Amino acid sequence: MDQTRIIIAIDGYSSTGKSTVAKQLAKRLNYIYVDTGAMYRAVTLYAMRKGYIISTNLNKEALINDLDSIVVSFEINTATGLGEVLLNGTNVENEIRGLDVASHVSQIAAIPEVRRKLVDLQQRMGKDKGIVMDGRDIGTVVFPDAELKLFMTATAKDRAERRYKELLESGEEVSYEDVLKNVVDRDHLDSTRKDSPLKKADDAITIDNSNLTLEDQFDQILALANKTILNTQ
Ligand code: C5P
Repeated sequence: MDQTRIIIAIDGYSSTGKSTVAKQLAKRLNYIYVDTGAMYRAVTLYAMRKGYIISTNLNKEALINDLDSIVVSFEINTATGLGEVLLNGTNVENEIRGLDVASHVSQIAAIPEVRRKLVDLQQRMGKDKGIVMDGRDIGTVVFPDAELKLFMTATAKDRAERRYKELLESGEEVSYEDVLKNVVDRDHLDSTRKDSPLKKADDAITIDNSNLTLEDQFDQILALANKTILNTQ
């Protein structure tokens, strides 16, 4: 008998390693992995390229008017086997990862019209289950009935150190202080916005990985996933 396929929703603060564990899980379970942060980042890149964001000023109306013509999709990188985000058909996976996009994304993600568009797309992606999706509102808004919900957290210092290392490795020249500020600011904006704020779903399991190795964390979460799959048969 085929194993039941479930939806695994992973939410949590910035740079808590959500995507690392989501990718590992999807690979092991042969599920699809969807990085919803990449979708908000792609719309942010669109707004920046169009000149809709100048410093802290955002031309919200212009972006909302363009929403129907913004196409966000994914393609598989055959070398890594992972999905990469496309903006209107062009791969922008590298462009969306920098600190410039990160410093505007929470502003864009707070716009209800943007959320409605992307949530609708995310729900369609998960309709056949067998999916691991990470973000800020997956267990609360996108898939409130997900069979397994995780909420990841770690200290701001641990998270900023991780993100700083990643950015340096990708060749971006940034200071640790700027990265820490970005992580803290984004968490504040994401948790206090009106539409779909970042919060733990009542039935989510909290994973604090400040003191967990990647292997321990993966083992713990894989065990939870297998148990949930068994109980869902
Ligand atoms: O996960 P990542 O750090 O790439 O997400 C970038 C930003 O996108 C978050 O800080 C948040 O503002 C927004 N986001 C969101 N809802 C999601 C995923 C991301 O609002 N489901």
